[in-house]
Amino acid sequence: MIISSSKPFNEILEMLMDKDAVYIIGCSVCAAKQHVGGEPEVAEMVSLLSDAGVNVIGGAVAKAACSVRSCEYLMELAPNIKDATAVLVMACGSGTSNIARFVDVDVYPANNTDSLGAMTGDKVIHNLCAMCGQCSIADFGGICPTAQCPKELLNGPCGGSMDGKCEVDPEKDCAWELIYERLERLGRLDLLEEVRDAKDRLVK
Ligand code: SF4
Ligand code: SF4
Repeated sequence: MIISSSKPFNEILEMLMDKDAVYIIGCSVCAAKQHVGGEPEVAEMVSLLSDAGVNVIGGAVAKAACSVRSCEYLMELAPNIKDATAVLVMACGSGTSNIARFVDVDVYPANNTDSLGAMTGDKVIHNLCAMCGQCSIADFGGICPTAQCPKELLNGPCGGSMDGKCEVDPEKDCAWELIYERLERLGRLDLLEEVRDAKDRLVK
């Protein structure tokens, strides 16, 4: 799941203030689950922007903004979008970018795309994968150090952890402590004996 958060309303308003006709597109997958782009949020954005003086000509929620396949689908979902001079997309960056492929007007993001993560109930879990393109998560018991250790260390901890917390971000558990504990539970501490080369993040 792509983890996104809403931009502050004033930032969105500033982007759209001088636009003649704004159409809003939401996304019923990740953004809806996180309450940053489903039906209620699109309806609320229409109302907030209209109250602030922006001419909003409509709003619709795509099944998945990142997999809108054609201009025809978008026109069927949102017929008024053809009259828009700007489109606000309440989805992740890939959804916003995908919508921009089908409209020849300015496209603006309502959200910041934060990480690739998960949700358990209403709890958002950030940074489960950094999309390195060379997945080696099995070497670490299913906990990815490329995504969860700020130094992206592949061969053990940096030594700065205090009370199980990361020295870079003390709000977070040290990924390497989690990896060690998990491999110990699995009886796979042998996996730590291999020295691993740094990843070339430019290779995909
Ligand atoms: S190694 Fe980590 S960052 Fe790379 S693809 Fe696997 S989970 Fe994602
Ligand atoms: S404290 Fe742990 S998670 Fe933080 S940078 Fe060091 S090894 Fe990585």
